[in-house]
Amino acid sequence: MKLFDSHAHYEDAMFDRDRDECLSRLEEDGIQYVLNCCSDVSVFETVLSIVETYPAVYGSIGVHPHWVQETPHDYLKQIAACLSNPKIKAVGEMGLDYFYDDPKDLQKRIFKEQLALAKDFDLPVIIHDRLAHEDCIRILKEYRPCGVLHRYGGPVELLQEAFSWGMYVSFSNDLTYPEWNQPHIDCLLAAPWDRILVETDCPYTPPKERENDRCLSKDVKTVVETIARLRHVSEEFVAERTLENAMRLYRIS
Ligand SMILES: [Zn+2]
Repeated sequence: MKLFDSHAHYEDAMFDRDRDECLSRLEEDGIQYVLNCCSDVSVFETVLSIVETYPAVYGSIGVHPHWVQETPHDYLKQIAACLSNPKIKAVGEMGLDYFYDDPKDLQKRIFKEQLALAKDFDLPVIIHDRLAHEDCIRILKEYRPCGVLHRYGGPVELLQEAFSWGMYVSFSNDLTYPEWNQPHIDCLLAAPWDRILVETDCPYTPPKERENDRCLSKDVKTVVETIARLRHVSEEFVAERTLENAMRLYRIS
């Protein structure tokens, strides 16, 4: 089974002591590709060095809504400079996060500016939406980007709107946590097979059975297993379709 972990954070400080060890064993772990997502300007260089070192790892560059207050004025220029790297396949992650107190106006401005930049560069976007579903989909509708709603667990109707202009949705080990998995399961059951990606968001959110551990790309297997069980198909089917979908979205041939 070949798997595509479509959202990982190997630039995170939790990998500082053994980043190379983790990324060198991807193939052994059954991982064909990883999309390393990016959270803020301070890690752009780390993301670039990761994608340049490991053939199986592609990347995105962008600013997560939780980091907007630390973002320098010239951040768009800095993102644009990284986008010329052929292994950078998307802009993000970007979006809205109403869980923390980061100012909403600033979050919206930085979200919109990155959506416009992605349009200019004709690149897909990776969307983070936490407790901001209405605002997030309303802004997305203005730009109608291609891209993915990562770990989306909002109303199914809003997700269906996003599908209507071609967006994807990705599922993680959220599906294994009975405490909060129901909205994610509802979205999974409503998603067409050609719109679904799988991800770990590692080092965060390992499978429920190891909830206090660090997560790794190989943990995308429990996501695939859970989707197969919930949708009554084989794991191979889920692995193949999600690999195909991620390669199409990120234009990896
Ligand atoms: Zn992320």
